[in-house]
Amino acid sequence: MGKPAITFSKLIDKLQQHYGPPAPLPSNDPLELIIWENIAYLASDNRRAEAFATLKQTIGTRPEQILAAQHSALAAIGKAGMLPDVSAEKLLTIAKIAYEEFESDLRATLKKPLPQAKKALKRFPSIGDPGAEKILLFTRSYPVMALDSNGLRVLCRVGFAEEQKNYSATYRLVQNAIHEQLPRECDSLIRAHQLLREHGQELCKRSKPRCAECPLSDRCNYIRKA
Ligand code: SF4
Repeated sequence: MGKPAITFSKLIDKLQQHYGPPAPLPSNDPLELIIWENIAYLASDNRRAEAFATLKQTIGTRPEQILAAQHSALAAIGKAGMLPDVSAEKLLTIAKIAYEEFESDLRATLKKPLPQAKKALKRFPSIGDPGAEKILLFTRSYPVMALDSNGLRVLCRVGFAEEQKNYSATYRLVQNAIHEQLPRECDSLIRAHQLLREHGQELCKRSKPRCAECPLSDRCNYIRKA
């Protein structure tokens, strides 16, 4: 694959010109971010936010509060997405791990060296390397460029790497391709994460991307090949 026709920073600037300031973060607390990921399976951001607000108002997000809750109350909140009983079970598992292994507070763990901090976060349901990196970034613990599937797709299509059959292989290729160009501090990386995600959701969708409306269309490999 040749080089992309746009630098990473220019790409992010163009997205901000198009979308405006990026969306605020759901939380800057590590445990709440883990709960956010698990609270409602395959729910939209809006539905997830509603479920999260309900949990905070009716039960709370501390491990002790979740462990004291009825399974049915957690499942009712999980109905914002699919498989609500599974989501309820995951919340209980999260609370149990946080309570038993981290004394209900993950903040000290995030101050550990990066590999150890990532390993600790991956103890929780649905948190792999990308999820752990996102938590480390959103809590401003480490300036790592976390990418979700939307951001990854955008960067592949623009031309930073060829999409592979294996998601992890694609993730690594893209990370290697952008590494030298990345800003070094968390706020800029958070802005990039949020804008890439928004672009993947709004215009650069998995099927039928809306290239005619895209601010990157004059620099995108995907549209050039099409
Ligand atoms: S031109 Fe199309 S494929 Fe390329 S980034 Fe924009 S929406 Fe995605």
